[in-house]
Amino acid sequence: MAVPKRKTSPSKRGMRRSHDSLPIEAYQECSNCGELKRPHHVCAACGHYNGREILAVA
Ligand SMILES: [Zn+2]
Repeated sequence: MAVPKRKTSPSKRGMRRSHDSLPIEAYQECSNCGELKRPHHVCAACGHYNGREILAVA
């Protein structure tokens, strides 16, 4: 079985993990209520999408 010859240094480990962070999620203001929402998704705060109410929100 292949075995690493040397322990991975903190520097090399950090270089490998430099791409591990989660990407920043896209968001935009809801045109109906102004709450932040995901683009192309129904607004979770007021249930509107594309200018009309899709979901009934209490
Ligand atoms: Zn909204």
